Amino acid sequence: MALAFDEFGRPFIILREQEKKTRLRGLDAQKANIAAGKAVARILRTSLGPKGMDKMLQSPDGDVTITNDGATILEQMDVDNQIAKLMVELSRSQDYEIGDGTTGVVVMAGALLEQAEKLLERGIHPIRVAEGYEMASRIAFEHLERISHKFEFSADNIEPLVQTCMTTLSSKIVNRCKRALAEIAVKAVLAVADLERKDVNLDLIKVEGKVGGKLEDTELIYGIVVDKDMSHPQMPKRIEDAKIAILTCPFEPPKPKTKHKVDIDTVEKFQTLREQEQKYFDEMVQKWVGGVELELIAIATGGRIVPRFQELSPEKLGKAGLVREKSFGTTKDRMLYIEQCANSRAVTIFIRGGNKMMIEETKRSLHDALCVARNLIRNNSIVYGGGSAEISCSIAVEAAADRHPGVEQYAIRSFADALDAVPLALAENSGLPPIDTLTAVKAQQVKESNPHCGIDCNDVGTNDMKEQNVFETLIGKQQQILLATQVVKMILKIDDVISPSEY
Ligand code: ADP
Repeated sequence: MALAFDEFGRPFIILREQEKKTRLRGLDAQKANIAAGKAVARILRTSLGPKGMDKMLQSPDGDVTITNDGATILEQMDVDNQIAKLMVELSRSQDYEIGDGTTGVVVMAGALLEQAEKLLERGIHPIRVAEGYEMASRIAFEHLERISHKFEFSADNIEPLVQTCMTTLSSKIVNRCKRALAEIAVKAVLAVADLERKDVNLDLIKVEGKVGGKLEDTELIYGIVVDKDMSHPQMPKRIEDAKIAILTCPFEPPKPKTKHKVDIDTVEKFQTLREQEQKYFDEMVQKWVGGVELELIAIATGGRIVPRFQELSPEKLGKAGLVREKSFGTTKDRMLYIEQCANSRAVTIFIRGGNKMMIEETKRSLHDALCVARNLIRNNSIVYGGGSAEISCSIAVEAAADRHPGVEQYAIRSFADALDAVPLALAENSGLPPIDTLTAVKAQQVKESNPHCGIDCNDVGTNDMKEQNVFETLIGKQQQILLATQVVKMILKIDDVISPSEY
């Protein structure tokens, strides 16, 4: 098996075994599948954590993406192996359910596969491995709950939320502005959140970007920003108490037709014509212009989307306290801000940055931060990061293995070893000796019975993640363990791979 790169620099996996065979059975099938899964995990491993490396990916039409977001890397990689696709799917599920931890979940699954391979080589049946993993994952799941903390926040005290979002952003390219971006994310989520029902509809947060300016200029607008300017230079740049018609039909001011002959021989006739034109135009202007963000504008302003002029009526109009055009720096770029809307529960995060790649990466990073804030509103339990939760689970699972008399205890013990993969990768990516660092931290956790000791990636001087304020949501971490175990069990249970003969 080998990892190769095509002419666009995208990695792909060659499975040598499959070049000759069209059918793999039994242990061969499992080994080939494990190899494919591990290959994907190996790619993501170096991207984990605050010092993780970024990947540069080029699409067939030449678009370049620079990111260290696991889900994005896998999304853009053209994997042509079914098991590798399962790993991509795994990262996507984590992204869909939680939004964060997409790299970690794949690293975790890769480590579980690696351990499984060793067990299979020792002659343990794959089903026994799968069952042992299942038991171990339940132990880890419950242990996470025990070491979790509730942390309190309210609309008046958003600092704890900001801190958590900062942890997420600290491992991204945009970490230079993590404080500002974290505050924006938290304020945006709180603006659309229903704190009583503990729910947040992220669809109400629009993330818009425009090349230009600095990342620091990124702002939160309590309203909608439309990438358009006032259609006519003579229109006012600022309208207070605006009524807004939301149209999905084309709309243009009438142009005087020069080809027709109009006999105007008296002042009266000219005035009549002018009045006619003005009236026609006025009628249309009364029924304003639309854009792609119609739905959000409709939600924000309380207006109705109208498909035809004829159907427009006063009660279908939306209301906004202020509509203004804002121009940026020396560029001619202008955007339209619709603010102080009737229903203020739709907000826009407007990202500025030097180039398109930076803006796209900021969007992805903010998505993670928004998800973290949303998860905390749904469930305010947290565990500490930097690999500390994994190490603590590893110790708990290891201890539990001794209580299981069956063959499963080998698998449970291997699960404990696999949990170490995250702190190992974090240490390695930060330039620390991985094994030495991990064993020292593990010993410290046991000695001090402190589950908050993790990897001091940023060389802060303490490895107590509570002091470093590095935490993750409990549901996010639990989901990682559940999803990784599920996918590995699925891979282990495949003992026959039948592929088309030309493969
Ligand atoms: P993912 O896509 O899985 O979220 P990241 O690259 O964002 O991957 O890395 C997340 C990991 O980095 C988590 O294990 C988290 O606890 C850890 N981490 C983040 N910030 C720090 C930090 N300042 N010190 C130590 N570990 C950190």
